[in-house]
Amino acid sequence: MHVFITGGAGFIGSHLAAYHLSRGDHVYVVDNLSTGSLSNIEAFRGNPHFRFVEADILHWGDLGRAVAWADRIYHMAAVVGVKKVLEDPVAVMATNMSGTEKLLRAIHSGGWNPQVIIASTSEVYGFNPKSSFAETDDIVLRSGGRLRWAYAVTKLADEFLAFAYARNYGLNIVVVRLFNTIGPNQVGHYGMVVPSFIQQAVRNAPLTVYGDGEQTRSFCDVRDTVVALDRLAACPAAWGEVVNVGNDQEISIRGLAELTIQRAHSASTLQFIPYQEAYGEEFEDVTHRRPVLDKLRTLTGFAPEWKLDDTLDDLVAIERTKRLCVA
Ligand code: UDP
Repeated sequence: MHVFITGGAGFIGSHLAAYHLSRGDHVYVVDNLSTGSLSNIEAFRGNPHFRFVEADILHWGDLGRAVAWADRIYHMAAVVGVKKVLEDPVAVMATNMSGTEKLLRAIHSGGWNPQVIIASTSEVYGFNPKSSFAETDDIVLRSGGRLRWAYAVTKLADEFLAFAYARNYGLNIVVVRLFNTIGPNQVGHYGMVVPSFIQQAVRNAPLTVYGDGEQTRSFCDVRDTVVALDRLAACPAAWGEVVNVGNDQEISIRGLAELTIQRAHSASTLQFIPYQEAYGEEFEDVTHRRPVLDKLRTLTGFAPEWKLDDTLDDLVAIERTKRLCVA
């Protein structure tokens, strides 16, 4: 199979590349390296089935050719991370919306019909006060121009673009709402909690818990995520649909901090930091974020295999090795 991945040097994109290369597929990655990194794809550079181009899909002249080549497309190119979104909302709007439109238009105008995964996010559920979210649940966004929700709005626009192309032109597109995803190669500097806690715990530094730490999340190991995405792309009943992807095991952020300290046998303590200090005045956190996975299960039979403890152990071991290499 020919697999084309936009944003393929990013955290999830590079795991998709690894997964498909391990199955003997041909993988073509485009990434502008704005949040992705060459180190994520270093291991594949010598593989004759792997090809990488550094380009921004907004201006890339070969998009049409890449789309024509592909049997499967994962559109992962996006500006992600709450901190990044607050820093540069203009880039978020441009990349996340125009990029998707360009891609879908290239597929349609070429007359192609590959399997397509469009990455959306649990952020689209917004401020809905429910504690777990099914695909049919309402989307609740704040008005008043708060940029914190810019990311959700761009991803919603992507979703509707995808539905429009699927309905009007019969494209085989699945929109996936990714819940918190964790695993090797994820970096903490865009505000992601698990890589931050792992680094802090391994250094025996205080773990920075924002707010009171009672907010909850459900973390899915990326090595499970890629299996779910592969199954959805190949599932005709999923085409034209939106599907939650994640793990429904829930933990509070305070609980996560304590568990990370325990798994790392760390001497770290917890340091509670008010949201305003962490993100600035504009920020509102989501209290609970847990996926309802019935639709994913019904469509694909998928169930996550990685337990949070095991992912944390793995990440602690990787962080320790990194520190040894640097020392
Ligand atoms: N968080 C935290 N300490 C950090 C980074 C994040 O307590 O160093 C919190 C953050 O406020 C949120 C949760 O951890 O409540 C998950 O944050 P992340 O940015 O990883 O995911 P998201 O908020 O997008 O679900």
